[in-house]
Amino acid sequence: MAKCIAVNCGSSSIKYKLYEMPEEKVICSGQVERIGHEDGIFSIKFNGQARKEILPIMDHAVGVELILKALVEMNIIASFDEIKAVGHRVVQGGKYFSKSVIFDDYCEEKVAELIPLDPLHAPAHLTGFHAFKKALPNAVAIAVFDTAFHQTMEAEDYVFPIPYEYTEKYACRRYGAHGTSHNYLAIKAKEDYLKDVDDERIISCHIGSGSSLAAIRGGKCVATTMGLTPLGGVMMGTRTGDMDPSVMDYLSTCTGKDVHVLYDEFNKKSGFLGVSGKSNDTRDIESGAAEGDERCILAANLFARRVADFIGSYFVRLGGADLILFSAGIGENSGWFRKLIIDRISDALGIVLDEEANNSRGEKVISAPNSKIKVVVIPTDEEVMIARDCYKALEGTL
Ligand code: AMP
Repeated sequence: MAKCIAVNCGSSSIKYKLYEMPEEKVICSGQVERIGHEDGIFSIKFNGQARKEILPIMDHAVGVELILKALVEMNIIASFDEIKAVGHRVVQGGKYFSKSVIFDDYCEEKVAELIPLDPLHAPAHLTGFHAFKKALPNAVAIAVFDTAFHQTMEAEDYVFPIPYEYTEKYACRRYGAHGTSHNYLAIKAKEDYLKDVDDERIISCHIGSGSSLAAIRGGKCVATTMGLTPLGGVMMGTRTGDMDPSVMDYLSTCTGKDVHVLYDEFNKKSGFLGVSGKSNDTRDIESGAAEGDERCILAANLFARRVADFIGSYFVRLGGADLILFSAGIGENSGWFRKLIIDRISDALGIVLDEEANNSRGEKVISAPNSKIKVVVIPTDEEVMIARDCYKALEGTL
């Protein structure tokens, strides 16, 4: 038995979950938010209790200290040494990492080299890594990459049709994201629904504030929607997803805005927020649509159309599908959105929705028995994948 902590370090936050492994028992979880501010927020959930404090948290090192101090004060651990491994979620692993690795000097060098591909998260991952390393010098540190699962894609799925020298010189290609989630979902789907199917074909829809789909065959990713960065693919909470690339140049000419300003708008002011003019949260879009707000209806339809189109494309890509799964904030919680998507693929793919199941909660099959393809909802769990790899590192099997 060993305690392993899964962490997700953002630019101003640290999300964490402490596990007892290999039992996969969640001991506690929480987050540090507003790092760099006088009114930072520290929270922890343990044994049904929730503790929240507002205090100055000027850097990640302070945030890590707060987490560890609380673990001792609340008698969750007797000493820091009890934590044997720290698993860091890293968004971008580029072409270098096709699986989780020990966070050693080489890994650190490569994560730093990849900052231009992920300027938002990569520096924060490194800061968080250093803070944990200082506080827990004896714990094994590993990096778990969002891109690793997608490294099995073939060139025809990841090369962009740009001058080839850019692909070679700048490693400008599709990397995808949400790989840890798609990997978890593919494993769970195989265990729960596809035990007897060989070389199973899964279309995985991770749809939340960020959304991506993956076509998975025999547990390996064949294609995914996000591109060079998480801006590509389907429309999202605030991101555009795929568009005609000339939109950038045209709007720059029309508005006089620099491409960097527009790029920021495509990341932060577009998607559901941009189209609806109301919210990036699909709960607001759903209620807006119910009240007849035309822009909310348009935003919802745009999203459903894009997800449906990718499902159709992946059905062809895989030569059929044994399972379509929905997960993440929208996929797990909104029967309304799931139906909106399925209505757009049901005729072509012979899918029959079980309306009652679709309107209930939790992991379940939402297709009717006479549906040609089984459709399921599976809650995702990226943290447990990180904890599993931590334990493998401790066992020397990573
Ligand atoms: P995630 O990024 O996976 O945590 O998903 C968060 C997003 O899921 C939120 O911003 C909402 O857009 C969406 N969401 C969460 N709960 C619901 C719900 N009950 N109905 C519709 N959308 C939801």
